[in-house]
Amino acid sequence: MKADIPHDEAEPKTGLKNPPAGISESQREGVFVNGFICQNCGLHFNLFSWKANRHRADNTYCPECGRRGAFIHYRKMLSDKTYRDENSQDEIFRHVPWPGSQLIGDSVIMASPRKAGR
Ligand SMILES: [Zn+2]
Repeated sequence: MKADIPHDEAEPKTGLKNPPAGISESQREGVFVNGFICQNCGLHFNLFSWKANRHRADNTYCPECGRRGAFIHYRKMLSDKTYRDENSQDEIFRHVPWPGSQLIGDSVIMASPRKAGR
């Protein structure tokens, strides 16, 4: 099955949704973007989180070379809200997937228990 579907068409064609998930709102500290530059292979990547200090150089693995620790690490708070604001441009779902991205066929899409009939 070809899954290269532009994001703006992904929801109506695949039923993909962005429901609030992950940590509970009581654990959320805001919206943070961590920018890492790997000193081993040079990869630059951004990692989004609802926790201010969850992702650090010593517990983050480079998605390119697999090493951890040797990063230049930047962080910016995008939102200080401890709840998901559907109208905010700073929520993580606004940034991922990147605008214009295509859904890739290796995606593992979990069916909800209700939809799966279990
Ligand atoms: Zn690396």
